[in-house]
Amino acid sequence: VIGGIGYTSYVTYTSRHPMEQLPFDPKKRTVVILGTGWGAISFLRKINTDDYNVVAVSPRNYFLFTPLLPSCTVGTIELRSIMEPVRFITRHKSRNVKFYESECTDIDPESKTISITDVSDVKGAVTNTTIPYDYLVVAIGADNQTFGMAGVREFACFLKEIWDAQKIRTRLMDCIESAGFASQTPEEVDRLLHMVVVGGGPTGVEYAAELHDFLKDDLELWYPELADKLKITLVEALPNVLPMFSSQLIQYTERTFKQNKIEVLTKTMVKEVADKEIKVLDADKNIVSIPYGLLVWATGNCPRPLARKMMARLKHTQTSPRGILVDNYMRVAGANDIYAIGDCTFTKYAPTAQVASQQGNYLASVFDNLARIEEGQDKKITPFEYSHQGSLAYIGSDKAIADLPFLNGNVSVGGVATFVFWRSAYISTQFSFRNKFLVMGDWLKSTVFGRDVSR
Ligand code: FAD
Ligand code: NAD
Repeated sequence: VIGGIGYTSYVTYTSRHPMEQLPFDPKKRTVVILGTGWGAISFLRKINTDDYNVVAVSPRNYFLFTPLLPSCTVGTIELRSIMEPVRFITRHKSRNVKFYESECTDIDPESKTISITDVSDVKGAVTNTTIPYDYLVVAIGADNQTFGMAGVREFACFLKEIWDAQKIRTRLMDCIESAGFASQTPEEVDRLLHMVVVGGGPTGVEYAAELHDFLKDDLELWYPELADKLKITLVEALPNVLPMFSSQLIQYTERTFKQNKIEVLTKTMVKEVADKEIKVLDADKNIVSIPYGLLVWATGNCPRPLARKMMARLKHTQTSPRGILVDNYMRVAGANDIYAIGDCTFTKYAPTAQVASQQGNYLASVFDNLARIEEGQDKKITPFEYSHQGSLAYIGSDKAIADLPFLNGNVSVGGVATFVFWRSAYISTQFSFRNKFLVMGDWLKSTVFGRDVSR
């Protein structure tokens, strides 16, 4: 009986095997999509493979649900619960989607080819090749902004990819264990237990919030002699954190952080990063040293090397250093048959998952309409229109904040009820039932058993 249930659930879950999908059709045009993030996956889910051959290229063979990444740094959620293999996502397609786990290193708009490099640790005989496209969709996201500051890449941890969350979790536990090492000096204990977060945008705020919960719920229990010495500091260059939220929610967040003993240093800009301390220009224009054990760097986005290379090739039309310029139809300015969506572009929209996924859905519908127009149907291609569904952020102690559009205005709410809303919103936006199940299981697990404090 158990075997039968397992078999049934496996069949239901996989629903279509790649062997049952149609092969590539040489008579159809080929769309190549770069990336497996919010923009690319939304596009892949919606593109009609009856009309096109589709090839996906990304160094990551999975989609990552970034909104819950801060929860992975302390083990509230396990890493694999927010990852989804590309091949699971494309299993519903009528035609097989080819996936190459590789990095695109160059785009040649003249020959309509891209160069790709195998990124796996185990390499075959061929590691570099070129592939042709009829249409190219660039959805490569963005890099971490460091402002070229020495030491950031070497000593700080970012929070963008799965391995970043893993690195933060390991380093955090290393700091705590080293602080408990025999005969450690009091100064060194204070340094090791000082967790500094740079950037008061939503990434920095959500990370500080998760770290606070870990301290209160778990570290106080398992490390009673050290927990009261652990200090969290958030450094922000602007006069307040979360500039994209309403002033009411900014004040609510700053009040909550104060109650939770998270020190917020506003009007403070990091100027230098060394292995054990940062130097900041504080609100009184003094240079001050801040020793740290763990440094998390969340100061926003900048274009990836591939985006820069493509922009340099199209330098007469690509005139912004902040990202790829596109028109209202997501067509890359100065190139034929190349589109760009999400964080790699520079538009009037914020670089969010919400924008990237709407652009991915929109572009798939553009391709659908193009195919219908070719068949002789009367279809119109309308420009992309963004529909803002609101902003949400977790701020710790089971409290979240939300700025939600309501009628023609905006509603700002914060607190425990908003936290329940935050959780349900993120569960409902998971792409698969499997991931919904895993995330809910992790929440239950960490509530019942506490978080795992092993390295
Ligand atoms: P990404 O999702 O970053 O995907 C880029 C893809 O391109 C990746 O698969 C990458 O591996 C691939 N790639 C990179 N280089 C290459 C290359 N050379 N060739 C081929 N492929 C390449 N937004 C919200 O709206 N709500 C939230 O709650 C929220 N929370 C967030 C929390 C965190 C911690 C972070 C870091 C971001 C959060 N965001 C949130 C922002 C959101 O994640 C991004 O705006 C979104 O991921 C952008 O989607 P994208 O497809 O443009 O890029
Ligand atoms: P961000 O750009 O939103 O914020 C970065 C912050 O770092 C800014 O406030 C900036 O003033 C500060 N900063 C820059 N240089 C500094 C320095 N040298 N010293 C001190 N502070 C400095 O970046 P983010 O938080 O990584 O977010 C990136 C994007 O992802 C944003 O569009 C954001 O809306 C989105 N995001 C959304 C959510 C959410 O909706 N819950 C969560 C995470 C990220």
